[in-house]
Amino acid sequence: MDFVEQLKSSVDIANVVGEYVRLRKAGPNRYSGLCPFHSEKTPSFSVHAGHQFFKCFGCGVGGDVLKFVMMIEGVSFYEALKSLAERYGIPMPKRSEYADADTRLRAAIFQMHETAAQAFRANLASAAGADARAYLDRRGVSQETVEAFGLGYSDRSGRALVRQFQQQNFAPEQVEQGGLVGKREDGSLYDRFRNRLMFPIHNEQGKIIGFGGRALEAGDEPKYLNSPETPIYKKSYVLYNLHRAKSEIRKEDRVILVEGYMDAIGVTAAGIRPVIASCGTALTMQQVQALKRHSQRIVVNFDPDAAGANAAERSINLLLEEGMQVRIMELDGGLDPDEYCKQRGAAAYRERLDGAKGYFYWLADRARLKFDTKTTEGVVSMLKFLLPAVQKISDRLERMAVANDVAGYIGVAPGAVLDTFRRAAADRQEKTIARPKESLRPDEKGLLRVLLSGTEGGEELVASLPGLEVLAKLPARRIFEAVVAVHNGGGVVTFDALHSRLEEEDQHLLAGVLLSEEADRNEATLAYGRQCLESLERAGAQDRRAELKSRIKQAERAGDVPEALRLMQELKILERSGEVRA
Ligand SMILES: [Zn+2]
Repeated sequence: MDFVEQLKSSVDIANVVGEYVRLRKAGPNRYSGLCPFHSEKTPSFSVHAGHQFFKCFGCGVGGDVLKFVMMIEGVSFYEALKSLAERYGIPMPKRSEYADADTRLRAAIFQMHETAAQAFRANLASAAGADARAYLDRRGVSQETVEAFGLGYSDRSGRALVRQFQQQNFAPEQVEQGGLVGKREDGSLYDRFRNRLMFPIHNEQGKIIGFGGRALEAGDEPKYLNSPETPIYKKSYVLYNLHRAKSEIRKEDRVILVEGYMDAIGVTAAGIRPVIASCGTALTMQQVQALKRHSQRIVVNFDPDAAGANAAERSINLLLEEGMQVRIMELDGGLDPDEYCKQRGAAAYRERLDGAKGYFYWLADRARLKFDTKTTEGVVSMLKFLLPAVQKISDRLERMAVANDVAGYIGVAPGAVLDTFRRAAADRQEKTIARPKESLRPDEKGLLRVLLSGTEGGEELVASLPGLEVLAKLPARRIFEAVVAVHNGGGVVTFDALHSRLEEEDQHLLAGVLLSEEADRNEATLAYGRQCLESLERAGAQDRRAELKSRIKQAERAGDVPEALRLMQELKILERSGEVRA
């Protein structure tokens, strides 16, 4: 067995996908969830644990576990292979035949980040890190938290990493693309981060892909310096702390979004773990989609200042567009989340969290501050302000319910508010692609399932396929042809083997057959397979009978008596054979 096969047989696709997508059991071997590759509110994404594939009937993507990892991580085949092998402790063969130059560059950059993280941690513990340690002390960050978050310190030399990368024999062009060093005009290299408290940024698998560095000296600008984009760090896709928080996010079915690294660390250290940070950049659609895979319920807890409130306001529309349920959490006393946890304690923070308001109440409160509700103009402006958020709700009933609530909350005559909302929130056209209409016969589906299940004695069924009269007329004929081709080529008939040979339309059909509820009801035994095959044979004979009858009619109409008699004789033989009921 080659390594790819070996790996695929030792990892469970439902487990792997389950790390990224909340899956619900939909049948003995089937799971369903919201597709991570397109925006949707009702699940059209399925995973089949028996046949080890995933399929979305919304956007059409599908394939095996490697394809899934490639797509969700945006990595090459080799990297997906390597990542799965590492995660499941399967030793990878030394030969790196799958690696291309791009993959090797990325691997080198990952390694440089490991080196850097180690160096930063060592610095923080050394004499050079005294100021950084003092800062952490002042912020009440314990040693345990420092270690849990891998915090470090970049020294003042500006050459430490450059030297280390040279010693480790990284090629200069790899070092330049790694984001950790900069290049002067004279071509010399320097460490990008100097005299800063270092926060490693991880991808969802927990690998370090970048750093945020906080200035320690007054006047050092910018206050926060982040890694530039590199082949392994795409800012708009990354959320700080997601790899640590994701299991808790699922467990609580809720995620808390804060603004800064220190907030995420402080809230986590207080024992409230489903928290992530947007790293100071405006929230992106890709980040929201990454979150949505774990929970659709989000509590936005930004800083209490005007900038924080504006950022929250901007985030709301994006979150609603992606179908998230949004609450806004406000902290009293002008404290940010980190300070609040330290000064008031975890219990007080949790109380605020549980009492977080639905976003529209929060927006309405904001609107009340901005507009004068005593004047008609004020009310109209207020409605205009609130409308976009209401329109973003994709569910019509929910939209109307929110409009009602808003009306009540801001105390404007419900009629006027509702009219405005009704008119403006006119039905949106939801983009939903229906599950392809399956026109397959039940016996056709049954036979396919038996053929794909590795049922003992299945060769007998494969052998009968080429002689099956009705085959050419079946919607799944190309799938049956692929079965025969795989079998004759000495291969095992599996979902993968067929999937790779089929055109997209037939790939949908195949996935549909295996993911249907019927598939759960009937066991894929040889006896059942034979029964389906016989039923298809009968269908073929019925077809032939119908055809003979019509030809007889034609001959009679044309006055060709000998031909009509000959055909009638043929019909008689067919009917006597018992293949068709007369
Ligand atoms: Zn999809």
